[in-house]
Amino acid sequence: MAAENKDNTLMEKLSALCKRRGFIFQSSEIYGGINGFWDYGPLGVELKRNVKNAWWEDVVRRRDDIVGLDCSIIMNPKVWEASGHVGGFNDPMVDCKECKARFRVDKVFTVVIRDKNDGIILTAVVEADDEQSALQEARRSANSKTRRKFANTKDDLSETVLRTDELSKDEVCPCPKCGGELTEPRQFNLMFKSHAGASEDSASVVYLRPETAQGIFANFKNVLDTSRLKLPFGIAQIGKAFRNEINPRNYTFRSREFEQMEIEFFCRADEADKWYEYWRDARFQWYIDHGLKSEKLRLRNHETDELAHYARACADVEYEFPFGVSELEGIANRTDYDLKAHQEASGRDMTYFDDETRERFIPYVIEPSGGVDRAVLAFLCEAYTEDEQPDDKGKMQSRVVMKFHPRIAPIKVAVFPLVKKEGMPEVARKIHAACRDAGLASFYDEKGAIGRRYRRQDEAGTPLCVTVDGQTIEDDTVTIRDRDSLLQQRIAAGDVVSFVQERIS
Ligand code: ATP
Repeated sequence: MAAENKDNTLMEKLSALCKRRGFIFQSSEIYGGINGFWDYGPLGVELKRNVKNAWWEDVVRRRDDIVGLDCSIIMNPKVWEASGHVGGFNDPMVDCKECKARFRVDKVFTVVIRDKNDGIILTAVVEADDEQSALQEARRSANSKTRRKFANTKDDLSETVLRTDELSKDEVCPCPKCGGELTEPRQFNLMFKSHAGASEDSASVVYLRPETAQGIFANFKNVLDTSRLKLPFGIAQIGKAFRNEINPRNYTFRSREFEQMEIEFFCRADEADKWYEYWRDARFQWYIDHGLKSEKLRLRNHETDELAHYARACADVEYEFPFGVSELEGIANRTDYDLKAHQEASGRDMTYFDDETRERFIPYVIEPSGGVDRAVLAFLCEAYTEDEQPDDKGKMQSRVVMKFHPRIAPIKVAVFPLVKKEGMPEVARKIHAACRDAGLASFYDEKGAIGRRYRRQDEAGTPLCVTVDGQTIEDDTVTIRDRDSLLQQRIAAGDVVSFVQERIS
């Protein structure tokens, strides 16, 4: 229990830091906000941009077999009919007849915890993303008497978690919020609707895209014809997607407006299993390489009964957030389902001609589909660290430090003059300018006590701080301080750029 409570506080502390330091703000906050929408502040936008740039660099720029694309958000509505989103992008919902809250049927769980004599210790109905989070939530909601029972019967508990749609007809599941009666499940379409043009009739209905992938499929032939790519090859896109989520929650994790980074990697059917494994492992490794510790990061292969009807295999990259283990990215073998569907609906040819084998066919596709905001949230959670360091007088002071991987850190280096006189600001500004000229995101700060300036950079997650002091004026050396080890060393002022470049690469 202690760990769960601590994690709850972690989320609160993190969101407070994000607001205070300008990572994430509530959208339209001055008007009371709007549920499911978020803004990225000055530090957050740099962090998010670095995540997107790292992805783009790795999957597009450094490869010969993937090209990029940037499609419009609003497309011909026929795209969404062919893809199945208009007919099928529905989540069955239940409404509470009392408090009017609305829930996704597959996100309401009944949790029953029994002791070894089969005596019920706790029953709870909770809203959560999956079984494990439901269990955590139920345990969190227990009163202190029940918690004592948990502690006394630690190893002998049996825990049953059932989704609402798994309950039999005569078992009733009450509202997780107020205990009221729930309606029968009803369909609810997740796509945002609008109208293109002056008239607001049914002929002008358009949708905001709920995923970036369909724009890639719709442009398959355009890209193929213009880029002269040969199978296997991929098309990548980063962009906004919109889903009218029933219940946005867990900070930015489930938003109504978010960004996706998606690859559609086309290959021959007989090579699809190989490429599926390649992308599943490569995408998992990418998160580790950018700082997500392996034990919080998981790769979950879907069971066959979990797969969408068109998919042959699917795996989720998951992260253990303070609110539970949840999906960052899904990697799926979608077969030739999407291109076939668009060929049938549009009447346009979606085949590929292999000039070696003289075969014409619709390729299979492997889709790694990630959420930018979810990746950013995982990086924020992982980076958040509290530790202690001695101040000038040797007294231990606690500090908050965001231990971002250098590649995604919003600021790479901060440059300070120790005091605002004796020529120090001039030298510091020169170093700052040299860093910028070398393409490093550098921050100049001359205000306040030096310890305070370090702490502000620790909260921003800046890997290195450079201080110009009295000695610099004499021998042209500066101190450079490492965010994580707190080690300070003296190096030549002229070496700052190469030192920083080497340390963050
Ligand atoms: P979930 O089951 O959590 O709703 P999903 O399986 O429907 O997600 P996909 O359709 O596979 O998600 O979308 C691909 C990726 O887009 C997800 O892995 C996630 O990172 C991101 N994503 C999807 N929905 C949201 C959302 N509401 N807010 C933020 N990111 C999202």
